[in-house]
Amino acid sequence: MTTDNTSREPGSDFIRDIVQADIAAGKQKTVVTRFPPEPNGYLHIGHAKSICLNFGIAEEFGGRCHLRMDDTNPTKEEQLYIDAIQDDVRWLGFDWGRHFHHASDYFEQLYAWAEGLIEAGRAYVDDQSPDEMRAARGTLTEPGRDSPFRNRSVAENLDLFRRMRSGEFPNGARVLRAKIDMTSGNINLRDPVLYRILHATHPRTGDNWCIYPSYDYAHGQSDALEGVTHSICTLEFEDHRPLYDWFLDNLPVPAKPRQYEFARLNITGMILSKRVLTQLVRDGHVASWDDPRMPTIAGLRRRGVPAAALRDFVKRIGVSKANSIVDPGMLDFSIREVLNKTAQRRMAVLKPLKIVIENYPDGQTEEMEAVNHPEDTTAGSRKVAFSREIYIEQEDFMENPPKKFFRLSPGSEVRLRYAYFLTCKSVVKNDKGEVVELRCTYDPATRGGNTPPDGRKVKATLHWVSAADSVKAEVRLYGPLFKSESPDPGNFAAELDPGSLEVIHEARLEPALAKDTAPVQFERLGYFCPDKESHPGALVFNRTVGLRDTFAKEVKGAVKK
Ligand code: ATP
Ligand code: MG
Repeated sequence: MTTDNTSREPGSDFIRDIVQADIAAGKQKTVVTRFPPEPNGYLHIGHAKSICLNFGIAEEFGGRCHLRMDDTNPTKEEQLYIDAIQDDVRWLGFDWGRHFHHASDYFEQLYAWAEGLIEAGRAYVDDQSPDEMRAARGTLTEPGRDSPFRNRSVAENLDLFRRMRSGEFPNGARVLRAKIDMTSGNINLRDPVLYRILHATHPRTGDNWCIYPSYDYAHGQSDALEGVTHSICTLEFEDHRPLYDWFLDNLPVPAKPRQYEFARLNITGMILSKRVLTQLVRDGHVASWDDPRMPTIAGLRRRGVPAAALRDFVKRIGVSKANSIVDPGMLDFSIREVLNKTAQRRMAVLKPLKIVIENYPDGQTEEMEAVNHPEDTTAGSRKVAFSREIYIEQEDFMENPPKKFFRLSPGSEVRLRYAYFLTCKSVVKNDKGEVVELRCTYDPATRGGNTPPDGRKVKATLHWVSAADSVKAEVRLYGPLFKSESPDPGNFAAELDPGSLEVIHEARLEPALAKDTAPVQFERLGYFCPDKESHPGALVFNRTVGLRDTFAKEVKGAVKK
């Protein structure tokens, strides 16, 4: 078995090595993992890494993965988020079966165990104010100081803890702390808080409780109660592991899970933090949690990113113990990999320039055969109407082209995809001197876009739509939400790129696109999908990703002009 990431089989990592070894050694019959989000926001692409890891391991080793809401802070948690989390995990392709759990399912048990710790002299009620507690905790280099309430009797502690539960004291008046070691080198072991008073209505337990367990206390015990074998979390919890184990050693838990840590996902230019994402939504910097510029799973889905692309991305970046930052181009790569295979091809013109084909009979329409997928013949073909008036992309014409410009210009000839060779004869301008129309001719001997008998060649093939048969649509182009590659989460308002959304109001699409619901490729332009706001009367498409790696540059260029 190797431990070196560079020589690994794809799909294998140090956590899977551990699971495999545990199974081989007979430590567990069934692997049980869990994904434990706090329902205080939508999931982001970092969570997708954790979901794929936890559910992936369960799947590969024939075990199971629980979906558990870490719902211990009722002031920030909402049913809306619980629903969204379930939708996102399911959409990613995973199934928790009947194992949908909540930390709040265990509130009674956790409370009983806390009383047990008090009775064993391992927990006490502390009356210090939050500020006093903070001041006495010490620092990385200085030990903490014992609380003056640390040596209360078991009877007094039990009495106070029960009165905390019954609602006698206001928020923040007292806490229950584990009695471990105020001089420990690990700050997490300096008498951590187990319970705090919070008079708040919980989405599931209502007003039954006015004390709530801390993350550290609830989390590991929930794992133990569910029989989790491998509790996988991100590196920031490495220093919490001794506390995780302390609880397991000091409570009559039914099982002893082990915690393993891996490096969280970071992506250049993105902020993966629910706190910051919440702020973006709340302050109206984006339209919603599923705004396609958001790194949320819902936002990516709405932008047209397939679940298979997210899974592919997560697989490619791998799992390790070293923190790193991933280039967003890797995500785009995975998206293109999947969409290139699955998306049907269509023609759409984002910024239309009208062409009148002077030698094409007025009133005539031809049905040209267009293939739906160049590498997949089973995808078949469709008919696209061709007529005397068509639109091409403004960018595909230049009146005074530089040397290497092979697209349309006065006197030059190009191929219209699936249709004919076309030559530009003259240019029509408006009062301001802007080109508003081209007068062209076509060669009837090139039907289907084929080379004519004289063997004449052209250097460019352009996409187009028929003026009369095309449909209008709004197309939304997205760029990075932030201007800089490492946006400062403390000042993100200033970091937002106002050009991250470009709306094209009057794009022209071939009519098949009015019926498409799956992601498609607009030939030469990129991958697009209908937005959820799209309806037959008003089509709206999102650009999922451009065709090549020049995407980032193109977007910047398009919005900074
Ligand atoms: P955030 O900082 O965005 O609020 P969180 O860790 O507070 O994230 P949780 O709901 O507690 O959010 O996360 C659920 C699980 O997802 C945890 O196990 C956590 O370790 C994991 N996770 C969160 N962010 C990332 C990330 N960027 N990469 C990988 N895993 C992550
Ligand atoms: Mg967390």
